[in-house]
Amino acid sequence: MKDAAYTLPMKDRFELPPGMIYLDGNSLGPLPKGTSDRLQTMVAQEWGQHLITGWNRDGWMEQPARVGNMIARLIGAPEGSVTMGDTLSVKVYQALSAALKMRPERRVILSDSGNFPSDLYMAQGLIRQLGQGYQLRVVAPEEVGDAMDDTIAVAMITQVDYRTGRMHDMAEITRAAHAAGVVMLWDLAHSAGALPVDLATANCEFAVGCTYKYLNGGPGAPAFIYARSDVAPIMEPALAGWLGHDAPFAFEPDYRPAPGIARMRVGTPPVMQMTALEHALSIWDEVDMNALRAASIALCDLFISEVEARCPGLTLVSPRDGAERGSQVSFAFEHGYAAMQALIDRKVIGDFRAPNIMRFGFTPLYIDEGDVLKAVDVLEQVVRNRLWDNAVYQRKALVT
Ligand SMILES: *Cc1c(COP(=O)(O)O)cnc(C)c1O
Repeated sequence: MKDAAYTLPMKDRFELPPGMIYLDGNSLGPLPKGTSDRLQTMVAQEWGQHLITGWNRDGWMEQPARVGNMIARLIGAPEGSVTMGDTLSVKVYQALSAALKMRPERRVILSDSGNFPSDLYMAQGLIRQLGQGYQLRVVAPEEVGDAMDDTIAVAMITQVDYRTGRMHDMAEITRAAHAAGVVMLWDLAHSAGALPVDLATANCEFAVGCTYKYLNGGPGAPAFIYARSDVAPIMEPALAGWLGHDAPFAFEPDYRPAPGIARMRVGTPPVMQMTALEHALSIWDEVDMNALRAASIALCDLFISEVEARCPGLTLVSPRDGAERGSQVSFAFEHGYAAMQALIDRKVIGDFRAPNIMRFGFTPLYIDEGDVLKAVDVLEQVVRNRLWDNAVYQRKALVT
């Protein structure tokens, strides 16, 4: 008997290759049904037939705001507070830069050692650009709350750790930040579409995230950026592109920012990518995020207990308590890279994060209890029969 708590009836809304168990939707979501047709129409009709009139006629120019509103509903943000474009790394840079401008007397960016490297790299690059004694302070994830002090201008924290799935308490850390006068920037890369997010309650100044992971927007789908309603009208954009101008088609020689979040737009939006994303986002109107979260925790718990019972040598590195975990489970294994290649060869798709982490994402829109049990069957064979011990599985590819 299938337990209804484990899954949501939406598997048939995705193009999943037969026989594949896809546990990597935390890295690249699968293709939603209908996206190919929608893109075909966009290309053949809108671009092909309407050409430049598509900017008005097909609503291309308004798309970043329209899609931003769809994201806003998912992350507990008001209408008009989110815009789309570029990649997450760029949005991190923009948000960080705007946050630093809000605390000109402070010089420190706070982050934690579990953050995704690109976020840290962008902070380092921004600091090199600014000079003037700016610095990045990186503490252990458990120390973030206590590390808030009045030298810190902005705390840049990713809610869910990409390697371990460890989850920060957004409301609590934001409170600690604000008590020390620190501007709060949340990265929701592994949160949006994975769990309920309530930005309005968290009250952070900024949030950013990507849309090709749990939101199924496709490889290279544009990122999102949110600014609180009192912050958006005063923030200073580091990347002063023409589409963030108050009147792009007035072609004025000097930059004047658009009134709100639109000033975080930079240049021409990627209409094809945005169209695929807009289609993918339509599914979320039908999803109860609390039910999704309950199913995600149930699937992860089941995976953990089965793997621990049947796969010797694998050590859980994710929090055991579902309330402290995002929607992924990671195990450390000495031969993790080769074991993951052996799994992928057997159509169980997860991924590997250096130095030794096997990572599995659980996305209840299209993963159910049966998938989890089958995946563990294959993992058990790989581990018990040392199927990883094969030269072809040792070769490192460009993307792991
Ligand atoms: C996936 C991810 C990124 C990737 O950034 P891109 O610019 O979209 O490649 C950045 N930060 C975090 C926290 C991520 O999880």
